[in-house]
Amino acid sequence: MSAEQADLAVIGAGAAGLMAERFAAELAPRGSRVALLEGAKEPGRKILISGGGRCNVLPFISEPADFFTESSRHVLRRLLDSWPLPEQRAFFEADLQLPLVLEAESGKLFPEAQQARVVRDALLQSAREAGAALLCPWRVHEVTRESDAFLLSCDDGRTLLASRLILATGGQSVPKTGSDGAGYGFARALGHSTLPLYPALVPLTSQDARLTALSGIALPVLWRARVNGKVVEERERELLITHQGFSGPAVLDASHWITHARAELSVDWGARGREAWTRTLDAASGGGKRSVVGALEQHLPARLAAALVAIAEVAPTTQLAQLDRAHRERLLLTLTDFPLPVSGSRGFAVAEVTGGGIPLGEVNPRTLESRACPGLYLCGEILDAFGRIGGFNFQWAWATGRLAGSAAAASLTERRAETAG
Ligand SMILES: Cc1cc2nc3c(=O)[nH]c(=O)nc-3n(C[C@H](O)[C@H](O)[C@H](O)COP(=O)(O)OP(=O)(O)OC[C@H]3O[C@@H](n4cnc5c(N)ncnc54)[C@H](O)[C@@H]3O)c2cc1C
Repeated sequence: MSAEQADLAVIGAGAAGLMAERFAAELAPRGSRVALLEGAKEPGRKILISGGGRCNVLPFISEPADFFTESSRHVLRRLLDSWPLPEQRAFFEADLQLPLVLEAESGKLFPEAQQARVVRDALLQSAREAGAALLCPWRVHEVTRESDAFLLSCDDGRTLLASRLILATGGQSVPKTGSDGAGYGFARALGHSTLPLYPALVPLTSQDARLTALSGIALPVLWRARVNGKVVEERERELLITHQGFSGPAVLDASHWITHARAELSVDWGARGREAWTRTLDAASGGGKRSVVGALEQHLPARLAAALVAIAEVAPTTQLAQLDRAHRERLLLTLTDFPLPVSGSRGFAVAEVTGGGIPLGEVNPRTLESRACPGLYLCGEILDAFGRIGGFNFQWAWATGRLAGSAAAASLTERRAETAG
C-alpha cells in the first residue's frame, strides 16, 4: 500500500491539536494538504469531559505563577505571551461566536451554553472551514524520519507521509480518552528526552480513618507545601474530604508537590490564620465556660471540629478556661499547620493532567519547532508545563497549539518560496 501524502500532519485532535490544525490550515500556502489524525473514535474527548461536562475554557485572570514547569520559566512566559489571554477570549467569542460567561466565585470562564460539546464542535468546524482534513480514527503507532519527511504508520497498516509534523498527543492522564502517553515515545524516537512523568491535579489518598470518616466535608483552607522544611507554595482554596482521602481545588492544585517532589502538605483549616484562631481560643473573649469544641464549631463543620480537638488530644468536654498552655499550642498547630496524612495519589487514571514531559528547552520558543528534529513541532500537554485548576490548562493548549500551527504553516510558505525561487 503506498503512503498517503500531506504537507502537514497534526497527531492528536485534542485541545492543542484542534487549535494547531485550525491555524495551520488557515495559514498554509494555497493547495496545501493539512491532515489531523485522531486515534480515538471521535476528536476532543477530553474537551467533552472537561469542567464536569461544561468545559472551563479559560481563566478570567492568569499569571505565569498559575503554571508549573521544571523547565525555564522564561520560556514558559514567552509561550504564554504568544497569545495573551484577552486575545484568546476574543478568538472564542468573536471568531468562534462562542460567548463565555464568568463564574464569579471561581474566576472560571465557561461557554454560555454550559456545554463542553459546543466548544469541541466550534473548534472542529472552524478547523474544517479553514481546510483541515480530519482522519478519525487514525491511531498512529509509529513515527519515523524519512529524509525530509515523516512517515506515520497507523495501527491498521495505513501510512501517511508528511513534510511537517505537529505532535499534539497530550499526556497520559485519563487514558481512556485516547491520550495514553504514546506521543512521548514518538518524541523520543525523533531525538527528544522526557522529564519523568507524574500525575498532577489529582486527588490524594489517605489511610487516616479519623479524617476519611468525615467524607463529604468541604471548607476553605490555606494549604502549604514544604520541601525539606521550606515553604515552596501556599494558596487559599477549598478542600474536600473524601472517603479515599482529599480532593477539591486546594488538593488538586497542591497534588503535584506530593506526586513529584515528595513535599509535606499542611493546611490551616478555615484559612483563618493563627491570630484569629488564638482569639477564638481566648477564654476572656470567647467566654471561659464555652467548650473548646463549641468555639471551633463557630468556624468549622461540627464533625471536623470534634475530630481536630481529638487529634490535638484535648478532652471533648474541655472548656476554654480549662485549656492549659501546652494543649492550646497543640490545638493551634492542629488548626493552622495540620500535616495532611497523605498515603499517595489516585494516579493517572483520574489525574486532570500529566506533569513532566518534553523539556521546554528542547523547542524553539518562537515557533515550538523541535531543536532535535527540524520540521517537528510540539504543543499542549506533551510539553513540560501545566496550570492549576481554573482553565489554565486549556489556556496553555490553545496558546501552544496556535503557535505550533502558525509556525509550521509559515515554514511551508518559506519552503514554497524557496522552491519557486
Ligand atoms: C476530567 C478532566 C477535566 C478537565 N477539565 C479542564 C477544564 O475544565 N479546563 C482546563 O483548562 N483543563 C481541563 N482539563 C485538562 C485539559 O483537558 C488538558 O490539559 C488538555 O485537554 C490538554 O490538551 P492536549 O491537546 O495537549 O491533549 P488532549 O486533549 O489529551 O488531546 C490529545 C489527543 O491526541 C490523541 N492521541 C494520542 N495519541 C495518539 C496517537 N498515537 N494517534 C492518534 N491520536 C492520538 C488523543 O486521542 C487525544 O484526542 C481537564 C482534564 C481532565 C482529565
